Amino acid sequence: MGKYLDIPFPTVKNPFDGHIHMHRWYLKEKGETFIHGLEEYRKVCGLKYIALASLPSGNPIPVPRDVSNNIMCAFYKLANKDTFAYGGFIYPSYPANEDEMSDMSLVTQLDELNEIGFDGIKMLEGKPNLYAKVNKPLDSDFFEEAFKKMEKEGTYLLMHAVDPQSFWTDATESNIARGWYYGDNDKYPHYTDIYNQIDNVLKKHPSLNLCLAHFFFLSENPEKLEDMFEKYKNFNVDITPGGEMYIGFNKRYDYFKSFFEKYQDRIIFGTDMDYTPHLESGIWLCDRVYRFLATDETISSFDDHMIKGIKLSDEAVQKITSDNLLNKLNKQPREINKDALRRYIAKYKHLIEDKELVDYIGELENEYLV
Ligand SMILES: [Zn+2]
Repeated sequence: MGKYLDIPFPTVKNPFDGHIHMHRWYLKEKGETFIHGLEEYRKVCGLKYIALASLPSGNPIPVPRDVSNNIMCAFYKLANKDTFAYGGFIYPSYPANEDEMSDMSLVTQLDELNEIGFDGIKMLEGKPNLYAKVNKPLDSDFFEEAFKKMEKEGTYLLMHAVDPQSFWTDATESNIARGWYYGDNDKYPHYTDIYNQIDNVLKKHPSLNLCLAHFFFLSENPEKLEDMFEKYKNFNVDITPGGEMYIGFNKRYDYFKSFFEKYQDRIIFGTDMDYTPHLESGIWLCDRVYRFLATDETISSFDDHMIKGIKLSDEAVQKITSDNLLNKLNKQPREINKDALRRYIAKYKHLIEDKELVDYIGELENEYLV
């Protein structure tokens, strides 16, 4: 067996990576722009479809987190039509302030992203570091109208909420340096707060088309997920690593093998691959997750652990790695409305600090939006 799959996704029709980010507009060393940067990843992994999750808000490390990320995702959809994209909310300042957002309320932003042709919404607002910046509980009035609208319109919402519980307890130097320590109670919410807030959002909006990323960090407590699956018919999770999740899966091997078969309609494949810095690791992740699902090989895995694949039925593998998400997204990527994208760029480009980037976006408008 080679380093990567000899035949990527040998048993799957239309493989679909449902959770990818794109952070850079150029890769100067390669003289390459983002437009072509993901093609290699798609080719090596044999992926028919990908979904880009825009991250326009959050900590500007290592690249700016601003409205340009939504714009870049829209341009990539124009460049490769087999691409889905989830837009994200932007905030003119932190903490979020309704008064400053009168002409860009979350509901207005939903309309704008929808009009452009985004296929769904990505929220990182439940990840403790962005949560702390925005400083609004997920079940507060601030988000209420947006959730209501998404529920009503059936908008697909991929949300990152919580993080591994160890991030609240392990104050190691390396965790702190990576921003992976949330023990400061004045600054960060406790994980139980976020779990409760998500419960409240779903109680209020039981039909929300919500996918919680990274298995909602519940590989140690999957009974909670079983309960949520029973209660909320549109609720899904993705199995984007979080390597800790796969270690958790192996701790209760037989349980999870049945869990994945039983909930094969509710689980979505993704890698969190991040173009450009992590092309190689994206390919590695894609391979690991596929092998975990489709084979019973014992493979080297995350954090140097070995994990044993759960060898699901071909039917379950097909659903998890393609059909479930395609069905959620009406089977094909939406078209970009060029006028709406132009208007969006005109309205928000003043929020982009990198002026070279503003010029480059102007060039792309001339190339793609005519
Ligand atoms: Zn992600």
